[in-house]
Amino acid sequence: MKKHNFYAGPSILPQYTIDKTIEGIKDFAGSGLSILEISHRSKEFVACINDTIALFKELLEIPAGYQVFFLGGGASMQFAMVPMNLLEKKAAYLNTGEWASKALKEAKLFGEVIEVASSKEKIFNYIPKTYTIPSDADYFHITTNNTIYGTELKKDLEVKVPLVADMSSDIFSRPVDVSKYSLIYGGAQKNLAPAGVTFVIVKEDILGKVSRPLPSMLDYRVHIKGESMFNTPPVFAIFAAQQTLTWLKQLGGVKAIQKKNIEKAGVLYDEIERNKLFKCTIPDPEDRSLMNICFVMSDNYKELEKPFGDFAKSKGILGIEGHRSTGGFRASTYNALPKESVEALVAAMKEFEIKN
Ligand SMILES: *Cc1c(COP(=O)(O)O)cnc(C)c1O
Repeated sequence: MKKHNFYAGPSILPQYTIDKTIEGIKDFAGSGLSILEISHRSKEFVACINDTIALFKELLEIPAGYQVFFLGGGASMQFAMVPMNLLEKKAAYLNTGEWASKALKEAKLFGEVIEVASSKEKIFNYIPKTYTIPSDADYFHITTNNTIYGTELKKDLEVKVPLVADMSSDIFSRPVDVSKYSLIYGGAQKNLAPAGVTFVIVKEDILGKVSRPLPSMLDYRVHIKGESMFNTPPVFAIFAAQQTLTWLKQLGGVKAIQKKNIEKAGVLYDEIERNKLFKCTIPDPEDRSLMNICFVMSDNYKELEKPFGDFAKSKGILGIEGHRSTGGFRASTYNALPKESVEALVAAMKEFEIKN
């Protein structure tokens, strides 16, 4: 049976990426060696990482003055590394979910942190729109897509202090005006590659302003200078990212994928609204994520949650259970998820409605 992969992360990758990494595991770039065993300093891998960075710059139209590099440690390590490198006195955070809360908590280790707004009182089911960012903040931190709760800030904010964004789960899903941001980071395992690599896009002129001493491994400037090779980078995950970005470029880039993402999410949100058994957890359509679509059983059908989960599984629909902190369902519709998988889920929802 065809499997439909709705997992939130690690998550579906393009078939192209799977096929190319299988080839690379057998023989990487004609080297006669596997990507799993070749030196990160081999000319073949240096070409691979340089091409991956070039694809980042091309697909996101990253302007001059920005550096792109790769690290380990996941987005979670960036929660600490961002304030360590940027927070001298005060930072502002928008609290839109569990990841944002974790980022905020880490920042408090390094200085004063202002939570400008939070949607916690409504279980993070909306993105706060009105708040004041202190003009003397070293930066303002946002999470553009809240993977667990299913909200997304789909437009680039215009703020007067340096803007820092965790884009772990919506990077490359739409065009982004990188010039509006001073730093963008994310784990790769949602929309780009297998787990193991973290990307950082940084405007170089915001670095070097904090007075604390920084351990080499946690200093962005050291990794920029080392061209992502200050220590051994996650070679395999970077190679896989190169494949995903090559696939995305062939498909027409971020504008083309955005169109597909809007279509896919639209089909599923429409069915959630139409089907009497289900309801969407995010009231305002403007805040609804195109990447993680969260829904629950309607009030009169609560007892059907487990039966629907089992029914979906019997149809090859995998990974739609909600996060362990929220329950309900979450269908992740990342770039690589084909429309036919969304159609399979919608068909299962319709069939389940008729049966009940
Ligand atoms: C998954 C996720 C994280 C955590 O990423 P790790 O790589 O596991 O540290 C952080 N932020 C967002 C928005 C995420 O989706």
